[in-house]
Amino acid sequence: MNIKNLLDVLELDSGILGGGSLAVHSPIDGAKLAQVHEHTAAQAAAAVDAACVAFMAWRLVPAPRRGELIRLLGDELRAHKQALGRLVSIETGKILAEGLGEVQEMIDICDFALGLSRQLYGLTIASERPGHRMMETWHPLGVVGVISAFNFPVAVWSWNTALAIVCGNAVVWKPSEKTPLSALACQALFNRAVARFGGAPGNLSQVLIGRREVGEALADHRGIALLSATGSTRMGREVGPRVAARFGRSLLELGGNNAIIVTPTADLDMATRGVLFAAVGTAGQRCTTTRRLIVHESVADDLLARLKKAYASARIGNPLDIGTLLGPLIDEAAFEDMQAALAKARNEGGTVFGGERQWAEQYPQAWYVSPALVEMPAQTAVVCQETFAPILYVMRYENFEDAVHMQNDVPQGLSSAIFTNDLREAEIFMSAAGSDCGIVNVNIGTSGAEIGGAFGGEKETGGGRESGSDAWKAYMRRATNTVNYSHELPLAQGIKFGEDV
Ligand code: NAD
Repeated sequence: MNIKNLLDVLELDSGILGGGSLAVHSPIDGAKLAQVHEHTAAQAAAAVDAACVAFMAWRLVPAPRRGELIRLLGDELRAHKQALGRLVSIETGKILAEGLGEVQEMIDICDFALGLSRQLYGLTIASERPGHRMMETWHPLGVVGVISAFNFPVAVWSWNTALAIVCGNAVVWKPSEKTPLSALACQALFNRAVARFGGAPGNLSQVLIGRREVGEALADHRGIALLSATGSTRMGREVGPRVAARFGRSLLELGGNNAIIVTPTADLDMATRGVLFAAVGTAGQRCTTTRRLIVHESVADDLLARLKKAYASARIGNPLDIGTLLGPLIDEAAFEDMQAALAKARNEGGTVFGGERQWAEQYPQAWYVSPALVEMPAQTAVVCQETFAPILYVMRYENFEDAVHMQNDVPQGLSSAIFTNDLREAEIFMSAAGSDCGIVNVNIGTSGAEIGGAFGGEKETGGGRESGSDAWKAYMRRATNTVNYSHELPLAQGIKFGEDV
């Protein structure tokens, strides 16, 4: 199916494909898909102003009714899952199963948010004063800005938007400039849900197509109460201080450098499969991709032999073809970054297996690679940086404590995992003395989180939490209320004030 037919199914006017200044290419073959219009920074500011107006009305709609809009969005996503999943694959190069999986994740978060719309609970708190009651109430926050990365072009928007909308907020979204078509398709589905809902204010969720200047306009705009920004640590370093300078809130979801520890008691079959999916899936372009393997010396040779076999047989090719495990990198710059990291690894004493360009003759404008396994003598400088490509650095360890230390001894803190059948090791890894990451797994890989848990990480990953558990609290403001139903006016802490006056 060509792109125009796909847009028809998604009920998106194919007029959006031409006439603009932003060229969109498919990483599958480098073909130009569209030339879309970009918003200016001034248009971004106007969109935020309009969102502020929408917020003033939406915050007064009862939360369960707001949930109904997200239920309808979930319906639209179910009905359009195949087309949207395919568009995601075409625009990002991820394999179709993963494109469809990403849309399923959107459906899941809509279900979650619908339930949440009846559970935005506050606490009732015992007061120290007689005849008093204390409680917390949670109120809508304002306009939520969303900046998203190319590698999850639709799920990140839905994680934020489904929660933000049931929490009573309006949303303004700036997707990656590499994936505007998927974003425009989401906006069209949202508009359909709004039309079926009836009575929602206009401009409740808007999309702004543009590059970093548009993101900067959101960072600086006082009308954005919360800026949820997903992307590189470099981006977060720029956005975070700008939002903080105006005392706005930010929720940062930045780079990861995720490790799997494999201990002597691990099930090596499971570990091999777990590492393969987490290190090679999405061509190494997930924030939760496994980039470091810390393996006990007693099982290292065995595991490496299995991995090399699995790596050599992983099918690389067109991500729309059934059976492909590894699609292309997003663009030439990503390929250059990968090659530079491999050269650096060699300089730092590494032995590289794989990592070469593939399908160059068939797809001269696309950037397919074989996944790379790199045996390192130690956790050197290159291993401590995130290279957004399928490179797995392998280090050996002797003592478990050293392995945990090595896992933590990088600037990032997103996801981590251990393969072990030793209960003590598993528990230590999950304890205060264990992994310092936001995600800590046992006997599964580092990637592929479910929406039910809070998602995010520590240190240079930014500290934000999105999606499940109580992540919704970031999208609301908390008021502490004290009610005096007595005839007296006692002060807290037993303070007597002016009673003998
Ligand atoms: P990127 O940082 O280049 O761009 C991300 C988004 O930020 C884009 O929309 C971009 O236009 C915008 N942007 C860039 N600079 C900006 C600035 N100064 N001000 C405002 N906006 C700006 O990242 P990418 O290449 O699209 O994505 C890959 C990166 O994203 C990786 O580092 C990956 O780990 C990270 N990521 C993190 C998560 C997570 O949840 N932690 C999820 C997905 C991706």
